[in-house]
Amino acid sequence: MKTISVIGSGVMGHGIAQIFALKGHQVFLYDLNEGLLKKAFSQIDQNLSLLVKEAVLQEEKKAETLSRISLCTSLKECVETADFIIEAIPEILELKWSIYQELDELAPANAIIASNTSTFPLSKLTEKSQRPERMIITHFFNPAQTVPLVEIVKGESANSNTVKETIELMKKIGKVPVELKKETPGFIANRLQAALMREAFHLLAEGVASAEEIDKAVTAGPGFRWSVSGPFEIADFGGLDTWKRVLDQLSPELSTEESAPDLINIHVQKNQLGAKTGSGIYSY
Ligand code: NAD
Repeated sequence: MKTISVIGSGVMGHGIAQIFALKGHQVFLYDLNEGLLKKAFSQIDQNLSLLVKEAVLQEEKKAETLSRISLCTSLKECVETADFIIEAIPEILELKWSIYQELDELAPANAIIASNTSTFPLSKLTEKSQRPERMIITHFFNPAQTVPLVEIVKGESANSNTVKETIELMKKIGKVPVELKKETPGFIANRLQAALMREAFHLLAEGVASAEEIDKAVTAGPGFRWSVSGPFEIADFGGLDTWKRVLDQLSPELSTEESAPDLINIHVQKNQLGAKTGSGIYSY
């Protein structure tokens, strides 16, 4: 597992390329044109400079890391020597299928093909592939170079070597792989985050508190514990009898609608998308 190919150099792809290069892998990074690749490379350069500034990385190591990244606009060049390929292109099924079909022709027979998809089940992604047994989902979290969690979805098709080699590789680059036994929308972490997000928007819409106060109630409260304890540890420490009463009492009050809360829809309609458009819930 020496050579890594990353397809797509956007928000996720550049971070994934960075972490593999930093950990000593030869990385080939692919995108549609040189402008996109230059932007990604410059972002990686800036991220590493920050680590140098914080004295976490030596200047020499930064130069070595950058030298291990090759930029390609040819998919063939990007994957022809790959041991492990990570697809991080937009969340559009037809685009992903078309890349996998090309990989069937271009990638070494034994290479593992991992998708960073946020939503598609592996059984859907593999539908048009000739090598489903070597395909897997590795769901990194943004920023991929920093957040330890990588959710691993093997579905029904990936063989046991594919799963074992993927988990070993993730551990080697310092990630915390979490394996799912079955496919589920949102995997684990986004499903949990979505439940929190949904209630946060409802609290705001109901005027219970300001956005600042709701954010503070999370970061100074549950969020403070969540960095060291998961929900089941918290439930056990609090007492399951107590949590039963809390959930019995609160469950009827929780929102159960089938789509995003109105408040988020209103912001999206106004193109107030958050930091990237200068305003969202807050102004930037
Ligand atoms: P992005 O739009 O920032 O980057 C995608 C990149 O893929 C672009 O640079 C685009 O030019 C490139 N690309 C390469 N080949 C392409 C092709 N054939 N067609 C179109 N584009 C091509 O997207 P992103 O946020 O990095 O997301 C990539 C994947 O990771 C998606 O599946 C997404 O759901 C998933 N993901 C995103 C996040 C997140 O927070 N952004 C988190 C986890 C997973």
